[in-house]
Amino acid sequence: MVTALPPHPEAPTAAARRPDLLGLSRSRLAELLAPIVDRPFRAGQVYDALNRRGVGDFAAMTELSKELRRRLGERFSIGLPEVAERLVSADETVKVLLRLGDGAVIEAVDIPDRGRHTLCISSQAGCALACSFCVTGYWGAGRNLTAGEIVGQVLAVRRDRDLPEGLNLVFMGMGEPLLNTANLAAALEILTETIALRRITVSTSGIVPGIEEMARWERRPNLAISLHSPDDERRSRIMPINRTYPLADLLACLRRYPLEANRRLTFEYILIRDLNDARADADALARLIAPFRAKVNLIPVNPDPVLGARMVPPSAERIDAFHRRLKERGVLSTVRRRRGDDVSAACGQLRAPHRPPRGFAGRAGVRPPS
Ligand code: SF4
Repeated sequence: MVTALPPHPEAPTAAARRPDLLGLSRSRLAELLAPIVDRPFRAGQVYDALNRRGVGDFAAMTELSKELRRRLGERFSIGLPEVAERLVSADETVKVLLRLGDGAVIEAVDIPDRGRHTLCISSQAGCALACSFCVTGYWGAGRNLTAGEIVGQVLAVRRDRDLPEGLNLVFMGMGEPLLNTANLAAALEILTETIALRRITVSTSGIVPGIEEMARWERRPNLAISLHSPDDERRSRIMPINRTYPLADLLACLRRYPLEANRRLTFEYILIRDLNDARADADALARLIAPFRAKVNLIPVNPDPVLGARMVPPSAERIDAFHRRLKERGVLSTVRRRRGDDVSAACGQLRAPHRPPRGFAGRAGVRPPS
């Protein structure tokens, strides 16, 4: 089911050109508002209205005086992304297309599961890393999201879907979050006021400097690493970033990573028929991750017309055999249930529609979607 809203004007509005209050920490917001508020606690009221209640309009902050609301509206904007479209899957997963202030579009996915919601969100409006199993990568690079756009994305989807504060949050949507660490960190400072850090996972394709930076943070969310192959040759074929940060460097960096006592690393492993799904691959994967307190998420690849004919999941028997082999080798692992694939909301299927893809070079036989 698709619900589309009217199109957004191309040019940013006057409001969008005023400084955006979303994405500012409590202290920075207090500093900025100091000249116009009558008492210091007013800045805290504005912060809570923005970041806890997701209020998108100063006029609706009725706890503030009319005069203060007017002054805020004259000087600042609230850059809450616009919900442009939502697609509801038969399994109740909902993909939400969001339009940002400059017209860029991103996607976020709400995945309900037994009363709890996991929100899969984007960190960039596209991705330059070109993993061959990922539609976002096929569509090509986009800009980094600001901290306000990351926070606004969560608020907009929460408001649209009427979701409670206590969500799980996974940075597994469009983009590589560890190529946008400054904005990610700033957004996490705000988001963790309502979502516990242990409920937040940042997933990376293996950006070593980004992982090293995360290692220096005082408080860290969970870390997931997209591994997808137990050797460099095949990993480089499906994840070009492996040529910059090969497995040896990535694993060495993970060995230095300060993992909290009660946490595990997650290794994501996309299963692709006849590429990385053999018993020997399960053995090699088990050997590779043996030094880590970790779990493995097995994800049967989600085919998509733009990915070409080779991106096919293994048979159910072969997936099961791979999973069993990991278990025999003592590896904690789960097979991720496919969610939302009927509306292209499943893992690897998010895209930046309404703009041309980067092109089709290197993906023989692939035609642009109509
Ligand atoms: S899988 Fe992640 S890193 Fe790779 S192209 Fe897609 S969004 Fe980028």
